[in-house]
Amino acid sequence: MPDTIPLPEGLERELLIVLMEECAEVQQQVSKILRFGAHVTGTDQVRPNSELLAAEVGDLTHMIQRCIEIGLFSAKDVETAAEEKRTKLNRYLRFG
Ligand SMILES: [Mg+2]
Repeated sequence: MPDTIPLPEGLERELLIVLMEECAEVQQQVSKILRFGAHVTGTDQVRPNSELLAAEVGDLTHMIQRCIEIGLFSAKDVETAAEEKRTKLNRYLRFG
């Protein structure tokens, strides 16, 4: 790959890093729910796992919005992808 392809820098790079971090935090909360349950509050927590997952999904949603605001991708493309996912999920969900 030629080294002339511009890589993200500045704000775009920073937002992508935080977007990636929030994806990981959502994964961590999902894992906790699968391991310990949604309505369990861990000894080191003040809120149940379900609320902590909601908080991380909120963080992620905000980062998606910030990426839209800087033009990294469009809200329309996100909406289209979400509708396509709904259609696919409806076809393949085993317990839906
Ligand atoms: Mg977070």
